[in-house]
Amino acid sequence: MKLPIRASVAGSPEYPFVAVDAPVKLDQNEASEDFPAALKAQVFERLATLPWNRYPDLNGESLSAAIGRFDDWPAGGVVATTGSNVLIALLTQLAGMGQRVLTVKPNFALYALDAQLLDAPLTEVALRPDFSLDLEGLIAALQAPGEAPGVLYLPQPHAPTGAMARPGEIERLIEAAPGWIVVIDEAYHQFAGQDARALARRHPNVVIMRTFSKAWGLAGVRLGYALCHEDVARQLRKLVPPFGLSVLQTVVAEVALENPAFMQARVEETIRERERVSTALAARADWQVIPSQANFILIRTPDAPKALAELLARGVLVRKQDSYFGLKGCIRVTIGLPHENDAFLRAAGVA
Ligand SMILES: *Cc1c(COP(=O)(O)O)cnc(C)c1O
Repeated sequence: MKLPIRASVAGSPEYPFVAVDAPVKLDQNEASEDFPAALKAQVFERLATLPWNRYPDLNGESLSAAIGRFDDWPAGGVVATTGSNVLIALLTQLAGMGQRVLTVKPNFALYALDAQLLDAPLTEVALRPDFSLDLEGLIAALQAPGEAPGVLYLPQPHAPTGAMARPGEIERLIEAAPGWIVVIDEAYHQFAGQDARALARRHPNVVIMRTFSKAWGLAGVRLGYALCHEDVARQLRKLVPPFGLSVLQTVVAEVALENPAFMQARVEETIRERERVSTALAARADWQVIPSQANFILIRTPDAPKALAELLARGVLVRKQDSYFGLKGCIRVTIGLPHENDAFLRAAGVA
């Protein structure tokens, strides 16, 4: 049957993910520990007192205020959605469709996938072989004569390499792109110990994306948000479905933001463990470890399917990344709890 589906949707692949079960799950950059039970109890208590028959806030106003207090950002410049992957589609609708989407490759798959689905012209500038940014290539693409501006996506730290840009590089790109929306995806910023808020305060065309899925350990709750100039936020909110955040999501996030100590302790442990695992992997002469500022490590192996199968045979699930541009042989391992990292190191034959 011929369905009346737009060609760009029919021609796009499905999101490349297959769920696999394993005793040690280090494949999705999630937190290994659940949200603390005492905080879950607070959520249940608060939920019991709230009406479920009424629509929630139109635009998540109370949550935006809580996020603004936590991140030291004006509430009017906070736009919360059900996961930051929703924001990628919305920002491409805001400034990419009919204009341009620019990003780097390799990269988190959704920027390019959403551009394709939404028929936004896409340019991907290759990273250098050491995974640093090709500034000249990006500036040339930003300033291409006769081309409309649009939206530039840069994850910081980058996924899946875990690399941060060198000091000053992001600002050089922003200054070269006054007519563009520059989106800095900070899904992993807590593990890098730095962020782009100062840049975003200086440049009103910068949008920061954050998520509760990684450091906060709330991937199952589905919450992400943008920090941006209030004028950009006002336009972006037009694209967010009205009443889009449920009371359940809002209450979980509010309890988390009131109790950040558990998250901060886990981030510190993850950073320590990331350095321990990276150092231990040096003993594996046929693997190359890419230095990471995130909660995962990219590793170049001689043969990614073989490395994945060997690890899985020993109960450890990691993610294959070898189909991405420039990532031949690469696998990505999430930093888990110390005993999970030990299991990974044993499975890799270095402990
Ligand atoms: C995990 C991740 C996200 C977060 O997506 P959510 O929809 O908020 O779970 C965003 N960007 C990158 C690069 C990621 O790795």
